[in-house]
Amino acid sequence: MQIRTKFNLFIRCPNCGKGLSHDLSLFALSGGRTISLPCPCGFTKARVRKYRREITFLVACLICERFHFLSIPMSDICSGKAINLYCPLTQVPLALGNEGSEFDEHPIVYEALLMLEDLALRGGILCQCGHEEMDVELYPDRLELVCTRCHGRLTIAAADEGDLADLKAVERIRMGQEGHHRSFHKE
Ligand SMILES: [Zn+2]
Ligand SMILES: [Zn+2]
Ligand SMILES: [Zn+2]
Repeated sequence: MQIRTKFNLFIRCPNCGKGLSHDLSLFALSGGRTISLPCPCGFTKARVRKYRREITFLVACLICERFHFLSIPMSDICSGKAINLYCPLTQVPLALGNEGSEFDEHPIVYEALLMLEDLALRGGILCQCGHEEMDVELYPDRLELVCTRCHGRLTIAAADEGDLADLKAVERIRMGQEGHHRSFHKE
């Protein structure tokens, strides 16, 4: 089994709305050091610290307008488990993570994720149920958007440059009501 020491957190800034990915390393967290994750706007989105066998996070919540204290076992990071942090009150995802090397192996998925975040910021992703809040699930060759209200799903291919070019041309993604749509519409 490969031991992961690097991981990656995608966090959206509650202050300016910009989503950015941050690389973190268990090595950098050793010795009780606290790492701050700042947004380019100057706002500190999160503080990360290793405490005993846990990695603790103080994450700025997009909804509650305060920081939440969350923790995950270090073994989850070492085994390469996805690290997703949710608001304990609303279950809204605050930080979407993955161990670093997986994104290195799947740069297309990573690019697609950034494009989708951009699109979401411009209000370009909407479910037919009227909801705009989406969960994103990452796979080696695709992303799946899941509506947090009706749980409708939409698969977005992210296997090659052609898929990225397709995604780049899209200005709006409308998710199907029954959630079985397998492609997005260009509008
Ligand atoms: Zn910001
Ligand atoms: Zn919250
Ligand atoms: Zn929906």
